[in-house]
Amino acid sequence: MSKIVGPKNATAEPSELYLYSMTPLIRYQHMPDAVVRPKVTEQVSALLKLVNEKNIPVTPRGAGSNMAGGAVPIKGGLVLDMSSMDKILEIDLNNHCVVVQPGVVLAVLNEELRKHGFFFPPDPSSNKVCTLGGLVAVGGGGAHAVKYSTVREYVLGLTVVLSNGNVIKTGGKTIKRATGYNLTQLFIGSEGTLGVITEIILKVIPLPETRSVIKTAFNDLEVAARAVNVIFKNGIIPAALEILDNSAIKAVNKYKPQINLPEVNVMLLIEVDGSKDDVRRQAQAISQICLSHGAVDVEWSDNEMKCAELWEGRNVVGVAASRLIETYSRVYEGEDITVPISKVADAVRGIKKISEKHNIPIVIFGHIGDGNLHPAILIDKKKNEHWKLLDKVIDEIHELALDLGGTVSGEHGIGILRAKYMERENGPIAMDIMRKIKKVFDPKGIMNPGKLDLEA
Ligand SMILES: Cc1cc2nc3c(=O)[nH]c(=O)nc-3n(C[C@H](O)[C@H](O)[C@H](O)COP(=O)(O)OP(=O)(O)OC[C@H]3O[C@@H](n4cnc5c(N)ncnc54)[C@H](O)[C@@H]3O)c2cc1C
Repeated sequence: MSKIVGPKNATAEPSELYLYSMTPLIRYQHMPDAVVRPKVTEQVSALLKLVNEKNIPVTPRGAGSNMAGGAVPIKGGLVLDMSSMDKILEIDLNNHCVVVQPGVVLAVLNEELRKHGFFFPPDPSSNKVCTLGGLVAVGGGGAHAVKYSTVREYVLGLTVVLSNGNVIKTGGKTIKRATGYNLTQLFIGSEGTLGVITEIILKVIPLPETRSVIKTAFNDLEVAARAVNVIFKNGIIPAALEILDNSAIKAVNKYKPQINLPEVNVMLLIEVDGSKDDVRRQAQAISQICLSHGAVDVEWSDNEMKCAELWEGRNVVGVAASRLIETYSRVYEGEDITVPISKVADAVRGIKKISEKHNIPIVIFGHIGDGNLHPAILIDKKKNEHWKLLDKVIDEIHELALDLGGTVSGEHGIGILRAKYMERENGPIAMDIMRKIKKVFDPKGIMNPGKLDLEA
């Protein structure tokens, strides 16, 4: 393999392999047997030809920030570290698109696009580290999905190396394309189980002129949920619509007292963007709606510094949750359920019940605007009973989402962690079809094995 990528870009040293055994999930780790860092599609193709012949499992990896264990080489074999394929190949604003290698970090692309007055909207909180290949492979999103949707809406075309080394191109720079099955969409969310993405054509759009941020406080979850409905019914689509429940508010105030969030039951953070006049009009309308629908406090601003300040509580809530109780740790599992927007209040109530029933603290925050919640489960790692309860709590959270007509993952993907819910969510016939698709692309089952429950 080192002949293909050069000796500097291949390793089997345990101290390096160890680094590739991990992702943020503490319960899922496995060492690969080797790691290679290809630079071009041809190298990926030659590598896959070789490992396919020898039946060696391959796990593609970007930044390894996936929250479902997708990048863990659970069956050993080869890790393809794609982070060295990090070139922005073309910025083609005539066609509102860019062509990138998969290792480009999302924030780096947006920094470049900003110079031209454009941006790529999907915005995971991990945008400063995560790669575009990883984001596409997972089908991720972020806080602004309520208006701008997820990465699925922005991928126009892909270059993919298949398990036998064959290279295919899907889609292209056109907005319209009506030529049979949409293979581009098939690869989005496939988490490295169908092939390795080596080039991506992404749609980009002009930056909005300005934004406003509205912070509102409610004493009652149902009342807040009703206010959200009224905002949508009035034809306003916020760019972001975030929720922090009481546990999240407390966590933020403990972590950074100077943020000083109102200690109410629910806080909503709402952002609108667009032209100056529109944004002001929408912010005023949202404030009015919230006040006349039970908000006990509303604050809004279109001053950029103040907007950033208003976002601060939401931005730090993940870290704050991890530090809410001394000796407790966040396990990053069970954190991505998504329900129809009208069911968010039921989901929050259900999660609280699960937390109380098992006496395991859960800090609740997320994207109320698209129904995606991130309940952060906290356990005392020294308590055996917490470890024993953990799977129960996680199962119950996922079951709750499915009972409410939702999904076990809105943006973090399936990986190892959620593989066991695939059949429950998709049904046995759809799973059978997915397994057959997997066999077509990867007959020997070498591509990221052990993920998505595709191997039954
Ligand atoms: C603090 C934190 C906050 C996060 N916030 C969000 C959020 O708001 N929204 C969100 O969607 N996600 C979020 N995530 C999850 C994660 O960052 C995203 O899923 C991210 O897009 C993964 O990118 P990555 O480069 O780290 O991919 P990796 O973790 O390396 O890989 C992810 C999956 O894609 C596959 N893969 C990677 N590259 C390729 C390729 N070139 N070809 C084929 N398959 C490939 C891997 O095998 C794996 O299955 C967060 C993670 C952390 C740690």
